[in-house]
Formats: sequence, C-alpha cells, structure tokens
Amino acid sequence: MEINCTGKELFLLKKISKAAEELNLPSFLIGGFVRDKIIGRPTKDADIVCLGDGISLAHQVANQFSPVPTVAYFKNFGTAQVKVHDFEVEFVGARKESYRAESRKPEVEAGTLEDDQDRRDFTINALAISLNKADFGKLIDPFDGLGDIERKLIKTPLPPLQTFSDDPLRMMRAIRFASQLGFTIDPETFQAIKDNVHRLRIVSQERITDEINKIMLSPVPSIGWDLLSKSGLLTVIFPQMMDLHGAEYIDGKGHKDNFYHTLQVLDNITEHTNDLWLRWAALLHDIGKPPTKRFEEGHGWTFHGHEVVGARMVPKIFAKLKLPMNDRMRFVQKLVELHLRPISLTKENITDSAIRRLLFDAGEDIEALMMLCRADITSKNKMKVKRYLQNFELVEERLVAVEESDKLRNWQPPITGEIIMQTFGLTPGRNVGIIKDAIREAILDGVIPNAYDEAYGFMLQKAAELNLSPIQ
Ligand code: ATP
Repeated sequence: MEINCTGKELFLLKKISKAAEELNLPSFLIGGFVRDKIIGRPTKDADIVCLGDGISLAHQVANQFSPVPTVAYFKNFGTAQVKVHDFEVEFVGARKESYRAESRKPEVEAGTLEDDQDRRDFTINALAISLNKADFGKLIDPFDGLGDIERKLIKTPLPPLQTFSDDPLRMMRAIRFASQLGFTIDPETFQAIKDNVHRLRIVSQERITDEINKIMLSPVPSIGWDLLSKSGLLTVIFPQMMDLHGAEYIDGKGHKDNFYHTLQVLDNITEHTNDLWLRWAALLHDIGKPPTKRFEEGHGWTFHGHEVVGARMVPKIFAKLKLPMNDRMRFVQKLVELHLRPISLTKENITDSAIRRLLFDAGEDIEALMMLCRADITSKNKMKVKRYLQNFELVEERLVAVEESDKLRNWQPPITGEIIMQTFGLTPGRNVGIIKDAIREAILDGVIPNAYDEAYGFMLQKAAELNLSPIQ
C-alpha cells in the first residue's frame, strides 16, 4: 500500500523496521496514522503494534539514533513513547482484551495482530501496515476499513453491541469521528448506540468531555451534536441541551426550534473561528430559553431574561462537564449574558452612550461578542436578516468610532477608589462606591470625557454633594 509519507516519516519507519527485525518482533503501523494518511488528513503521532514487548522495541528504535532519544515507558500498560524530530511514536505489544460487565478495565493478555485489530473501535481505525522486511508497506485490512473510508462509514469491526459494551466511550468516539470526518454511522452501529446509551454512565466525565471538545472543534460541529441528540446520548451527558428542542404552537403562534437554531449559530461561528470557547459560547447562548419561555396573550412567545438565566447556568454546566472553571468559563458566561446587546440597539438608540456601555461591559471581548451576534442572525425571513445585518453593521461602525475617540477598551476609570479615599480621608465604604460609580456613569453617558483632570473635577463636585471635602 502506497501511503503518502514524508521523507522524514519514511526514514523513521525504516529504522523501526530495522529495529524490529533485529529483535525478531513483527511490527505494524496501526490506527489513526494509517487512517489519516489514506484520507489525506494531517497526521500527528503514530502507533506501532508489535508481536512481543513494545517497550524493548522502543529502546531498540531509540538506539538507532544519536543522540539517543528518551524512551518514556509505562511498565503497567506495556507501552512506550519515543519522540524523534517532532515525530511521536507509541509502541505497544499486540493484545487481546476481554471485559467484565460493570467495569471498563479490560483483562489484557498478549495476542496476535488479528486480536489487536479486533479490539479496535472502528473498521477505519483497525487498518494496519506491515513494517516487516518481507512485506514492508502491505496493508492488512481484515474488516474492509479501506472500503469504509471510501464509503465514508463509521462501523465497528465486531458486532457493535460487543464493541460498545466493552468500552462505552466508543459510542462518543463514533459520533466524534462522524463529526470530524463528515462520515455517516452505519445503521446497525447507530442502533447499537441507541440501545447502549445508559452504559455511558460508567465512563469518566473527563473522557466524555474530551470527545465533546473534539466535536466542538470539528469542521461542522452540528453533525456531532445532532447525532448525540438522535442517539439519546445527549440526554445522559447534557440534558439542558435537549430542553432546547421543539417548537410549540398556541393560537397559531409558534417559535423557532431553539435546538436547531443553536446548532446553526454554532456552525456559523465555526466558519469564522477555531476558538473552542467562542464555539462554546455559541452553543450556550440560548441555553436559558427553556426555563424562561412564556406565552403572552395577544403577543406570542417570549424568553425574557434568558441571557441572564443562561449566564447563570454556565458555571453549573461547566462544573458538570468538568470544563475549566477559570477565565475561559467567565468568558463564555460574559458572552452568553451580553449576546443580545449589540443587536438590541436600534437605529434610534445607537447613541454614543449605549455604544460606550457596550464597550465597557464587553471590554477586550468585544470582537468575540460581535462575532457571536453576527452568527446569531439565522432567521429564514430574508427581510428580517437584512434589517438585522444593516443594524449590526451600523453598530460595528459606531463601535470603531467611539472606541477611537474614547479609548474605552480595557477601560479602567481614571479615578480609582484609592484616589478617592486619599483625597477625602475616607476608609473603604459606601461613599467611595457612590463617587466611583458616579464618575463611571458620567464618562459612559458622555457628561465628562474619559480623562483624569475632568474626572477629578467631577469627583470634587460629587463629593461636595455628599458633604465631603478634601483633607488638604
Ligand atoms: P485522535 O488522535 O484524533 O484522538 P485517533 O484514533 O487518531 O484519534 P487515538 O484516540 O489516540 O487516535 O487512538 C489511536 C488508535 O487506538 C485508534 O485509531 C484506534 O485504533 C485505537 N483506539 C483508541 N481508543 C480506542 C477505544 N476506546 N476503543 C478501541 N480502540 C481505540
């Protein structure tokens, strides 16, 4: 099998072949590297499986180079890693696995190449290439993985119930690969996922979330989320997202299906950014809609305050999914909370003051917020879209103009609480807050410019109203 290796890769593979022959350990390239080379995707690390001790092979390979690269090995797992010229190779002995029902810790014993291919998750991941002198480069493909790559199909090598029962994470992996590669899941395999949904509960949240993030970073993430929903897995891993489903009608008035709207917003933003957290913000922007949904007589459906409720849900969702509870979470939360702001400005109220407030609240995340807002314009009504976009562009222009004149980005009020306390001999307390807020509001409303001297003068004036005078 001709696969398109770089010169460096081929050089390394030949070295592995030589080392394998020296130790008399038949060796094979296997898994993602082979799959991605055939598909023509960029490859990362390569996995080598050998009939014998993978750690010995790794050392033998390392010894072919000068200086000898470090071999990182894990005796308990029988695996070893070697990094040569930025190319990471993992070695492992071929194994056979059997599983007990309520654990995903397999009983592992040495096996043949065939055993090792059997325990792979999908036919496209079970392809192997011989590195042995007699048939170097030969493709060993017992499950027609090559055909499935051509057919763009995700399919388990063994009966799917067995493959998923052995390691339920594979259900998430099936959907992740479908999303990453734009492949479909074979109907029998998909049915087995539906039948095994409850088994996902034995898998650690970290492994599940790794797959979710890979879906998020895939070229069309809606494929993965839709499959998660249709398989039933979404109900287990993220029920609040399922609540977005459905359009209800009362008195002939309906609302859009927020699940598919959300997925469209996510795909829209994906075309413009690889930032995982901005994509998360798109996914969660309307998460507060189900709990705020009301039908108002004579008016229709409303979701008042969904951005505030949604922002409040973000930390809980992040904690449950074991996503980082740090500034990344706060970024998502802020975008969810502010996502209506730019578009809610209409021609009449795009005042400098409204723009300043938006800049102040969004701070350095203003571009991300504007990108989210643009992605959020998904109406089927062309006139509505046109109107929103025109409005939106107007807001964008004004943002640039106000920012240039006022330098509000990353804005810190020119008068700090410290200065207020020193000037009036105050200790931290209510009056300091009142003066500080008044200065900020005056700048945002355009009463005074965003500059120290004017803010200082304003501070004296405000303090006088509170019967405070400077101490010197
Ligand atoms: P990616 O690198 O994008 O995460 P990958 O398949 O290329 O995906 P790994 O997840 O590191 O890389 O897996 C390497 C190979 O190991 C797979 O191609 C597959 O053959 C096998 N594999 C990995 N995880 C599992 C699993 N849970 N069950 C069965 N086989 C697996």
